[in-house]
Amino acid sequence: MKISDFVGADKDKIDEVVRNIKELDKKINAFLTIIEDPEVPNGPYSGVPIAVKDNITTEGVRTTCGSKILENFVPPYDATVVKKLKKAGFVIVGKTNMDEFAMGSTTENSAFFPTRNPKDLERVPGGSSGGSAAAVASGMVPVALGSDTGGSIRQPAALTGVFGFKPTYGLVSRYGLVAYASSLDQIGPFANSTEDIAAVMDIISGKDEMDSTTADVKLDFKRFKEIDLSGKSVAIVKEMMEYEGLDEDVSKKFEEFVKTLEDLGLKIREISLPSIKYSIATYYIIAPAEVSSNLARFDGIRYGLRVSGENLKELYLKTRNAGFGEEVKRRILLGTFTLSAAYYDAYFDKAQRVRRKISEEIYEALKENEFIISPTSPITAPKIGEKTDPLSLYLMDFYTIPANLSGIPAINVPFGESNGLPVGMQIMGGRFRDVEVLSLSWRVEEAVK
Ligand code: GLN
Repeated sequence: MKISDFVGADKDKIDEVVRNIKELDKKINAFLTIIEDPEVPNGPYSGVPIAVKDNITTEGVRTTCGSKILENFVPPYDATVVKKLKKAGFVIVGKTNMDEFAMGSTTENSAFFPTRNPKDLERVPGGSSGGSAAAVASGMVPVALGSDTGGSIRQPAALTGVFGFKPTYGLVSRYGLVAYASSLDQIGPFANSTEDIAAVMDIISGKDEMDSTTADVKLDFKRFKEIDLSGKSVAIVKEMMEYEGLDEDVSKKFEEFVKTLEDLGLKIREISLPSIKYSIATYYIIAPAEVSSNLARFDGIRYGLRVSGENLKELYLKTRNAGFGEEVKRRILLGTFTLSAAYYDAYFDKAQRVRRKISEEIYEALKENEFIISPTSPITAPKIGEKTDPLSLYLMDFYTIPANLSGIPAINVPFGESNGLPVGMQIMGGRFRDVEVLSLSWRVEEAVK
């Protein structure tokens, strides 16, 4: 399913799309809200249906973040990305399921229900943007938006067999994205082709007055087929290949991927990034610290759930205790601990320094090499209920986290199957070399065809 199948679609066709979603979603559970009778705006993409992750605000449409605390929250404004999509003619057909506040890797942390992987209904679609990935992979919509803080677009894309792109930090406005870890969060698209990823990026990227971290850069996404990549160098990171959690079948597919790149005329080099092995530890200090701060606003006073108490403090406690799920509470506790006066230097401050070190190693490598590649996820989709202990879930993020820590662009490119389950490969590039990353993604896509 492609964007071009829908450009110019009329209201009847959109109504049919919505009916189809309602039917298919009985099995998949990708949507938290399906928008009946959606508005079809004018614009170059008029009539193209798109699904939006439920942590991106939509005026007048419930935005839950997969949490009980926002179960009945209806935002009074559109996120910048939503505003831009509507202006271009896209039709928002629904809001997709996710791990609560985007914390998770399987979409099982949703406070409502798990989403099923369209390629095998017994399995998870990955997470945290599992609903968006499943909506595209099942053919309910040609494109969807997700958010990626530690891999939440790329990993579910890999596990469901679609393209998923995390842009350079600062390229897409976060205004209206409910904050998880603000220094890592980016919004990005899911699609069935590089071309459709580029089309959505062209619309949603750019400087925004409402988000001071957006860069004053406008990239030309339409150029992705024109860039000459012959002889460019692609780096493989030794420490990533030695990762003990890497599944043997995924590793074999990666070797095929390397071969494909060589056939395309790229030069492959092995490099070492000695600090990369600290990525997970660093991320799971920095992200929870930002969570403990960002989620303080959900106090039962201003919006969302309220559970009354004898006094103000009791109201806060009861509301937060009833409204947040287990993983969210765990992260708030972790973050509050690492930011506390006695432990700040030992944890938070140290993690910031290590983040800098990891980033510098990556930037250095990307001066000498055009791209860095790896598998996107060390494993294929697990069964629903199979992976529950937090640490084993955190370890799934090994390949995706470095791009968030350093702010570089990274894409998941579907690369065949292993035992009937999709496998995805990751292409990373230098900051603001997003179009180059899409250019290689497109060449791999063509080669796989
Ligand atoms: N799995 C990671 C986490 O739980 C990444 C989530 C994300 O990118 N939103 O934090």
